[in-house]
This record gives sequence, C-alpha cells and structure tokens, in this order.
Amino acid sequence: MSYLVLARKSRPQTFSQVVGQRPVVRTLQNSIIRNRVAHAILFSGVRGVGKTTIARIMAKAINCQAEEPAARPCDQCPTCREIAAGTSFDLTEIDGASNRGIQEIRELKEKIKFLPTSAKYRIIIIDEVHMLTTEAFNALLKTLEEPPAHVYFMFATTEIHKIPVTILSRCQQYELKRISAGELYDHFQKLAAMEGFEIEPAALSLIVREAGGSVRDGLSLLDQMFSFGEMRISSQDVVEVLGLVSREVLLQLTKGLLEGSLSVVLTSLAEIFNFGLDIKRFTEDLMGNFRTLLLCKIDGCAGLIDLPAEELTELQTLAAAYTRETLHLKLALLMAMAEELRFAGQPRLTLETSFVKIIEADNVVPVSTLLGHLNQILTSLPTYPPTSLVLPGPATRVQVKEDEPTTAVPSPEIQQAPPPIPPIPPASEEQEENAIDAAAEQEEPIAEELIAPDSAAYEKVDQEMKPVKLHPHEKDVRKDWLLFINYVKERNVWMAQDLQRADSVRQDAEGQLQLSYTDAANCSLLRQKENRQILNEFVVDFFQKPLKVRFIIPAAEDPAETNGNESPNRKRAQLASDPLVVMAAEIFNGEVGDIRIGPHSR
Ligand SMILES: [Zn+2]
Repeated sequence: MSYLVLARKSRPQTFSQVVGQRPVVRTLQNSIIRNRVAHAILFSGVRGVGKTTIARIMAKAINCQAEEPAARPCDQCPTCREIAAGTSFDLTEIDGASNRGIQEIRELKEKIKFLPTSAKYRIIIIDEVHMLTTEAFNALLKTLEEPPAHVYFMFATTEIHKIPVTILSRCQQYELKRISAGELYDHFQKLAAMEGFEIEPAALSLIVREAGGSVRDGLSLLDQMFSFGEMRISSQDVVEVLGLVSREVLLQLTKGLLEGSLSVVLTSLAEIFNFGLDIKRFTEDLMGNFRTLLLCKIDGCAGLIDLPAEELTELQTLAAAYTRETLHLKLALLMAMAEELRFAGQPRLTLETSFVKIIEADNVVPVSTLLGHLNQILTSLPTYPPTSLVLPGPATRVQVKEDEPTTAVPSPEIQQAPPPIPPIPPASEEQEENAIDAAAEQEEPIAEELIAPDSAAYEKVDQEMKPVKLHPHEKDVRKDWLLFINYVKERNVWMAQDLQRADSVRQDAEGQLQLSYTDAANCSLLRQKENRQILNEFVVDFFQKPLKVRFIIPAAEDPAETNGNESPNRKRAQLASDPLVVMAAEIFNGEVGDIRIGPHSR
C-alpha cells in the first residue's frame, strides 16, 4: 500500500475546503457569478498558502459541467474529476523554475492556438512564474495583451517583485496571506482526528508555530509526527522529533529574564544546548516572545498577535506584571544580542553574557529619567541669584564633563570659527602621550569655571535642563537614541555600529546633536564629509527636527585637527592597521612592507 503524503491527500478540491484566504475566495466566486473572470490572474504569497490549489479550483469553476456559472464547482462531473486527478488535456501546468526559456513559451503559444479538447476553456497554470527569463516574459506579453477567448492564464509566485510591471499590469492580482495560527490549529486538529491520531494541544501549538503560516510546511511536520509511530502525540514527542525548543523552556527563560533569576535562565540555556538545538531559531523564538509581551502592553495591538489562545493567555498574564519600558528595553537588548551572535565564535558565551546584561538592565535608570529628576529639583528650588547656588561637587563635575567637553575640540567643518588649537609638533609616541595627559589636566580649571558665580556656563546648564517641548512627530535624542540606532541599522549597518560606539549623545541648545567619542578612531569614517551628510539626513528624518550632527573627540587624537603635523610614525601605524590595507594584505597573502607618506608618496 503506497502512502500518500498529507499535503496531497488533504489538498482542498473546492472553494469551501480552502484553509483561510476567505476574502480572495469570495472575490473569485463573485467574479465567476458575474461572469467577469479575468483572462490572466496572478496569485502571490509565501509558500504553502494555497496559490496553485486555488488556481486549480478556479480551473474547475471555469470548466465545471454540472453548474454554470460554477461558483461552487461540483467536483463530481468528468471535467472536475479530470482536473482533480491531473489528467485533463485542457489544463496545462508549467513549473516556471524548470521551463523558464523563450522556447517553452513559444511551444505554449502554439498549443493555445487550438480549441480545448473536452472542456470549455484551456487553462494554463504557471507556477513560480517569476523565474521566467525576460525574453520569455516578452514572448508572453503579446498573448496577455490579447488573450484568445478560450484561454485563461493563472500565475503563481512567491516573489511578485521579480515580475515585470508590463506583465503585472495585465493580470488581475490576488495576494494570499499567511494562514493565521487559529485556522491552522483547527485544520490540523481535524486532519489528525481523521487520521486517527490524538495530539496534545501544546504539541499542536508547537507544530502551528513551526509552520509559520504555511499549510504545506505544517502538513509535512504533521507527516513526520504521524510516521513517528505513536497514536498519542505529546509536546515532548514534537520537541524531540522536530528538534524544537519546547515552549515550556522558552517561557521559563522569558520569565527568568524578566524576574531576574539568573540560575533559571542559565539552566534553561544549558537544557537548550544539551539538545543541540538551532541557536538562531531559538533566539528568534525568544525575541518573538518579548515582542508579543510588548504588544500585549499596547492598546489596540491585539490584532497583531497571532498565537493560539492558550499561549496568548500565558503571555498576557506575564506582561501584566511589567512596564512597557522594561519590556522594550529587554527586547532591544535581545536584538543587540542576536546581532552579536551573527559573528560570535562562541555563541554560548555570547548568550550567557548577554543574558546577564539583560537581567542587570533592570537596575538601570535611563539618563533621561535622572535628568528629569534633576530638573524637578532645580525648578522647585527658590530662585536664588546664581551666586548663591551651590550644587554638590561631584555631580556638577559630571555634568560639566558632559556638557562642556573642554578636552574635545569641535570639528572644523561645522564650527564656523574654530578655536585655535595648539599645534602638535611631530613628536615621539612618548611625548604625544604627555600631550594627551596635559590636555586631560586642563579639565580641572574649566570645571571650576562652571561653578563660579555669574558664569555664563551656569545659565547654559540651566537652560538645557528645561524639558524641551516636542512636536508631536519629533523624537527625543536621548530617549529614542536606541531606536535611532536601529533605524540606521536597517539602512546602513556599519554606520549603526559606529554610532553605538559613541560614549555619549546629547542635543545642545543650538540644535546640534553632539556625539562624543573618547576614541576618535571609532568615528573617523562617520566624520568623512559624505558619510556625515548621510548621517545628517538620517538624523533629520528620524528625529523630525533640523538637527545638525557635531562630533566631539579628544583634540590630541584628531588627525584632521593636526593637519600635516602629526608624527609620521603614528600615521604609518594608522595606515598599517587600516581595515582596507589589512584586507588587501589578506587577499594577496602578503604583508605590509614599506609605508611611504607625505606629498611625494603617490
Ligand atoms: Zn464539475
């Protein structure tokens, strides 16, 4: 006895059997009833959501002999049965991936010149139509412009963006959605019962989660479970057979990260490693959990959560105990961890250290909150003349360092009149270090100046403490900084990484976004003119206000400031460690020899 896989056995034969896709099905049925079926229809959507299945049912509906028009094909007449069995001469199914050339399309065009043999219409289904070559598409174009009355084309694609606009504009398009978790759950439950299997709800939820909205993917998982041999399938079986992270372990870990229980987190992680599970998949699932938790906290977002009811209730209960900010912070840290994992040589270590960081993040109070508190204190103080205001020493010192980067020199392109910089004479490494030390010492007197009475700098601090009234669309530089980095990351990965290396960021009173770097090398690329322009555009687009980026870097370390005056040795060392040079040396399997610098070097 041959075994028929579930995907074939359970393929829907009528519109009512289609899983999900109600709006598409209804529109198609209406077009049949009103006799307005387009001669070229394109179905798009991810794999396993019913594109070719619906195309075949449409073929039946167009050709059904029992009823006319057949919004509900009978599935009994000879034509319907031939189409279901795949033996109809008038239904041609082509796989675009293996028949992508102009020759195949020419053959097809020859074929459709003839009238159908037994059915009323010829139906051509081209699956994965985006794989056709440009020439093939061009050959098809003419036919689509004036399709013969006896021919209907049905195209299916997972990548609609690869289809030429000229073709798209000649097709009626239907976008098939991923199947919701609830629909998949019900469908699989019915199938399992029909096959005589009993599946634990938690086990079924796992399969639904793995299916990711695709019926076909879910069915092949079910197939795997059915051939496992047990008639009663538990979630433990699913975890073992399919190599998944069990939902219990995932939930345990999520709770551990929120409650700050490092032992729970590390034991769960050990369990995951012992099973040898896919780490990428596991981090995605974990982030998925936190995303759901965050969505639970946002009003009107319940529709965005696609989970079986039971799993949703669990997460909703958990979310209720935490603030939105906490959940957001932890999710952001998890995302940073996922990024780090991509390049990690020791994923387990990366995971463990990141988890420690995420747990400790609980105790971190955002700088913006601290500033808010300080602001409250300042505004509630009676208005003393500035001379009598005494701020606690160390706190003032910290503020001064941040607000008045005296050891740093603004970069010349932005500052109209740059302050004179003492030229750094060409010197040995040792002398240079002294110079840096000297620069660091200068901090002291200027810090004093700030506390001094009647100082203009005091007013500046006060002014900046006032909360900035934000335009509804404007974003706050400090509060939304992480979001901004993510925004940049989506557009330019290295830029986001360099931004992450900034030691502090703030918006000054003149509407400049100040980025401070203690190591100028971390922002040398960013400071290049064209990159800075791009960054400026990102800043304006994201924060929705006319901010200008200004880099604050230590004077001694800014090679641009020293012009040609820096030591040749230092420049050589810099060139030798330049990423481009290192890469070139690696590619050519060579090593850096003589480095020539200066005007004659080229
Ligand atoms: Zn029929």
